[in-house]
Amino acid sequence: MAMHSAVSYPLGRPACKKDAKALQFIEEMTRNVDSVQEKVLAEILSGNANTEYLQRFKLGGATDRDTFKSKVPVITYEEIQPDIQRIANGDRSPIFSSHPISEFLTSSGTSAGERKLMPTIQEELDRKQLLYSLLMPVMNLSRQRQGLVFSIYKSRNQDTLTSYYKSDHFKTRPYDPYNVYTSPNEAVLCVDSFQSMYSQMLCGLLMRKEVLRVGAVFASGLLRAIHFLQLNWQQLAKDIASGILNPRVSDPSIRECMSRILKPNRELADFIIKECEGQNWEGIITRIWPNTKYLDVIVTGAMAQYIRTLDYYSGGLPKACTMYASSECYFGLNLKPMCKPSEVCYTIMPNMCYYEFIPHDSANHGTISRDSPPRLVDLADVEVGKEYELVITTYAGLCRYRVGDILQVTGFHNSAPQFKFIRRKNVLLSIDSDKTDEAELQNAVENAASILRPYDTSVVEYTSYADTKTIPGHYVIYCELHIKDPTNAPSKEVLNQCCLAMEESLNSVYRQCRVADNSIGPLEIRVVIDGTFEELMDYAISRGASINQYKAPRCVNFTPIVELLDSRVVSVHFSPDAPHWTPERQRLEV
Ligand code: AMP
Repeated sequence: MAMHSAVSYPLGRPACKKDAKALQFIEEMTRNVDSVQEKVLAEILSGNANTEYLQRFKLGGATDRDTFKSKVPVITYEEIQPDIQRIANGDRSPIFSSHPISEFLTSSGTSAGERKLMPTIQEELDRKQLLYSLLMPVMNLSRQRQGLVFSIYKSRNQDTLTSYYKSDHFKTRPYDPYNVYTSPNEAVLCVDSFQSMYSQMLCGLLMRKEVLRVGAVFASGLLRAIHFLQLNWQQLAKDIASGILNPRVSDPSIRECMSRILKPNRELADFIIKECEGQNWEGIITRIWPNTKYLDVIVTGAMAQYIRTLDYYSGGLPKACTMYASSECYFGLNLKPMCKPSEVCYTIMPNMCYYEFIPHDSANHGTISRDSPPRLVDLADVEVGKEYELVITTYAGLCRYRVGDILQVTGFHNSAPQFKFIRRKNVLLSIDSDKTDEAELQNAVENAASILRPYDTSVVEYTSYADTKTIPGHYVIYCELHIKDPTNAPSKEVLNQCCLAMEESLNSVYRQCRVADNSIGPLEIRVVIDGTFEELMDYAISRGASINQYKAPRCVNFTPIVELLDSRVVSVHFSPDAPHWTPERQRLEV
C-alpha cells in the first residue's frame, strides 16, 4: 500500500507537496492543542526563568500551569509600561526575555495617548514566518487561481508588518509563483506615504491585466488606495503615457527600480483616463484589474463597516480574511478564507504563544477582582457560543497580558477552537488603525466645551458616529447645546474651532492618520435641535430599554438612530485645520 493513501486531509486535498506539509502541520497542531499549549508554556517559563519579571513571582523553577496561574498576575499594558520604558531607555538587562530585544514594535493601541511599545525578539520572526507560510496552502484549497497580487502596504515605523517586510525572512523568501507582488520592496518600505503609495499604484496599473488578487491588510487600506487613485489618476496616466516618473517620487531606490518597470504606454494611459474621468466609480476595481478573483483584506471587527463600500468598488468580489494577528503576537488563521465575511472565524494556532481566556459575559464585563480572581480558561477548554477576552503569554516575555480583544467561540477544528472576532474592548470609534475610547471622547468633548463657555453655552448631551460613507471616513460628533443667551451664541467659526480642539485632544494614532496618512478626514460636529437626546431615549425605551438604567449611547451605528439624529441637525461644522502631530521620538532604536 502506498504511504500517501494513509494520509488524510480533513481540510481538503493539498495543491502540491509543499502545501501538503503545511496542511499536515495544521492538523498536528490542532489535534494536540492542550499538549502543545502545555509545552509552549513550559518552554516560555524555562526560557525566561531568570528574567527580572518572572523572578518577581518566585516560581522557583516551576513551569506548570497551576503554579503559573496561582503566582503570576493577569495584567494590562499599563502595568508593565514602566518596565517597557526602561528597555526603551536603554536598559539591556533581561527584564522580560532572556533573549536580546531585537526591536520595538508599536501597536495601534495607545496608552496615555502614545502608541504602545512591544519589545520583541528575533525568534518571533520565525514564528510569524511559519504562520504566513500556512496561508497560501490553505487558500489553495479553494482552488482559486493564484499569481500576481496588487496589494497596497503602508510602511509605518516599527509596525509589526513593516518589521516583517524589512526582515531577511521576507526579503530572501523563496520565489513563489502563486504569490508574487506587483509592489517592489523599495516602494513598500519607503516611509514617505505619498511616494510609497504612488509607486505601488503605478506598478499595479502597469501590470493590471496579470493581477489576480487585489488587497491591503485592512479594508480601510484598500479604500484609501482607491481614494488615492481618485486624486492622482491624471498624474499617473501622464507618467504612463510619457514613461517618465512623477518628480514628487524622489526616493533614489524607488526611482531606480521604477526606471526598469516604467515604459511609455499610450494605450494604457488612455484606458486609465477613460475609466477614471467619469463620475461613476462603481466596479472600478474589476474594471482596472479585470482578472481579480478576490480581495485580500481583513473585513472583520471594526473593518466590517467597509464591506458595502468594498462591494461597490469591486462589484461584490469575495473578500478573503486570512489571518488574526497583533503586534504582541500572531494568533491564527481562517481555514475557510473564501467564506462570507459574517462567517469568518479564526483557528488559533497553539504553537504561537500560551493562551488564556477571561469569560466575558454581560454581567462581569470581563472585570477581574483582585481578591478573588477567576480561574482563566485554557485554550482547549473554551466553550462554543461563549465570549472571552484574550490573554497571552509570549516567548518575547509578556505574561498573562490582556490583549483587549473580545472573541466568541464558533466551533472547533479538531481540538482547536475557532473564534469569531467580536470587537476590541473599550473602542468606541475607529476609522483606520485609530482606536478612540469613551474616556478619550469625553475628554475631547470637555475641551470643546471649554471653548463654548465664554458664550454661555454648554453641551447638554453628545454621541458619536464613525462616518465611512465618504473616503476617507471621519468622526461625527452629534451635540445638543444649551445656549443661555441667543444674542451671544457661538459663531460658526467658534464651532469649527471646537472641532479642531477635539482633534487636538485625541490620541497620537488618530492625529497621525489624520495628518500624515490622510486616512481620516476632518472631524465634524453636527449640532442637533433641543430635545433630540430625549427623543433618542424615548426611542430606546420604546424598544425595551429600562428608563432607570438608560444612558445616552456614546456612539451610534444603528441606522434608524443615525437617521433620527440626522433629521434633527441644525448646523454642521468641520475642523478647519489639521491637528498637531509629530513623528514619535527616535527612542525605539535598540
Ligand atoms: P496592532 O497591535 O496595531 O497590530 O493591532 C492588533 C489588533 O488589530 C488586534 O488586537 C485586533 O484588535 C485587530 N485585528 C487584527 N487582526 C484582525 C482580524 N483578522 N479581524 C479583526 N480585527 C483584527
